[in-house]
Amino acid sequence: MNQQPSHARSLSDITNQIADYNPRSLSVAQASDIIRQFVTHQHTTDLVPILEALGRHLAEDVISPINVPAYDNSAMDGFAFAYPQQLNVPTDQFQIIGTVLAGHMFSGDVKPGQCVRIMTGAMIPAGCDTVVPQELTEKVDEHAVRIPLTTLRRGANRRHAGEDLCAGKVALPQGKILRPADIGLLASLGISQVQVRRRLRVACFSTGDELRRLDEQLDIGCIYDSNNYTLQAMLTRLGCEVINMGIIKDDPVTLEASFREACASADLIITSGGVSVGVADYTKQVMASLGDVAFWSIDMRPGKPMACGKIVAGDKSAFLFGLPGNPVAVMVTFYFFVQPAIRQLMGELQTQPVMTPAISKETIKKRAGRTEFQRGIATLNQNGELEVVITGSQGSGMLRSMAEANCIIVLPHEQQDVHAGEKVMITLFEGLV
Ligand code: AMP
Ligand code: MG
Repeated sequence: MNQQPSHARSLSDITNQIADYNPRSLSVAQASDIIRQFVTHQHTTDLVPILEALGRHLAEDVISPINVPAYDNSAMDGFAFAYPQQLNVPTDQFQIIGTVLAGHMFSGDVKPGQCVRIMTGAMIPAGCDTVVPQELTEKVDEHAVRIPLTTLRRGANRRHAGEDLCAGKVALPQGKILRPADIGLLASLGISQVQVRRRLRVACFSTGDELRRLDEQLDIGCIYDSNNYTLQAMLTRLGCEVINMGIIKDDPVTLEASFREACASADLIITSGGVSVGVADYTKQVMASLGDVAFWSIDMRPGKPMACGKIVAGDKSAFLFGLPGNPVAVMVTFYFFVQPAIRQLMGELQTQPVMTPAISKETIKKRAGRTEFQRGIATLNQNGELEVVITGSQGSGMLRSMAEANCIIVLPHEQQDVHAGEKVMITLFEGLV
C-alpha cells in the first residue's frame, strides 16, 4: 500500500522543465500534462471471482488457455456438406444421412452428394466444409434436399476453431476495465477468477465554515455540503473505495489532523473549498506544510483555483487534489483532472474523457485565453448528426444546470465566440454499461 515506483518525480522536477510555467496562469493542457507526469500507479492486486471483477481494472494480461471456439462449428441451422469440386448444376440434390445437434458429434462418413442436418453451434462433421441455412434449401422428401450451390460460397456459415480467440494469445490486456462482455469472454475461456488492481482508496472532505451536514439545521448564511455527495457519487462510479471524512472546520489543528488521518489510509485525498486566491482560511497553509503541493490558478471556467500534489505523513504518502468550492467547478475539475489521474493510478491507458464533435445550434459566448466547460444538452437531428445547446445560465454554483445537462461542451483555450452551425467538441455523460 502507498508504495511508489522509483520513477516517481516531484512536482518541481516536472514544472522546472516547463519554460513558461506560471502557477498563476496555467493552461488546462499544461495542468493535465503536469498531472500525467506526476501521477504513478498503484500495484497491489486482488484475486477475485470474475463476477466481482466487473468494473475493476485487470492487473495482468489474460492469456487464452484454449481456442474459442474450440472446434469448427455451424453458424446456422441447416445442412452441412462438402462443397463440390466442380459445379455442373446451380442446384444440387443432396441425400440427408443424419442429424448433428449442438454438444454432439456426427461420427459417420459424409460422401459427395450427401449432407447432414446441423444445428447452430454443432460441430461440423468430418469431410464437410460448408453449411447451407435451412431456409435456402428446398425439401425433396424426408431424405433429400436441394441446395442452391451458386448462391453459396465454399466455407459459408462455418465458424473456424480459434476465430474468436487463439490459445496462447492475449485475450484481455492489463489495465482494461472489465465490462460485461469481458466477464463473458473470461467465462468462455473457462477462467473463473482474475487478478484485478486493488480499488483505489480515496479520502474526501469538504472545507468551509458555512457548510452544514444534511442532518443539521441550516443556519443563516450557511449551505448544505453538496460537494461531499457529488464527489462520493463520482468516486463510486469510478470504482473507488471512498473514505468519507465529511466536513472539516476551518481550524489549522483539525485540518492538519484530518490530512494526516487521510494520508494514513488513502492513496488519494480530495478536498473541496478553501483553495481560491485570497480566501481567509487555513486549508492551503496546512496542505503546503504537509508535502509537495502546488497551488494553481488554471485558465479555465468554471474551475480556476486548484491544489495538486502529494502529502506525506510518517511513512505514508497520498496524492492530493484540492478542488475549488463551487459545486460545478468541483465536478468539472474532477472530470478533467482527477478522473484522468485516478484512471492512471489504476493503470488504464486511455485516461482522458472521450470527445465527440457536435454542431452548436446557437451562439455561445466565449473569451479567448481560457478553456471553457459549458453544460450542454446534445440530441441527434434528422440527419443523424449530434447537435448541442447550452443549458442556459452557466454560473459555477448552479448544480441544477449540471443535472439538466447530458454533456459538457469543451471550448478550447484560443476559441472565441462560437456561432450557430459551428462544430464544437463535447463529452457525453453516459455510455453503455
Ligand atoms: P471557496 O472555494 O471555499 O471559496 O468556495 C467557493 C464557493 O463554493 C462558496 O460559495 C462556497 O460556499 C461554495 N462551497 C464550498 N464548499 C462547498 C460544498 N462542500 N458544498 C457546496 N458548496 C460549497
Ligand atoms: Mg471556503
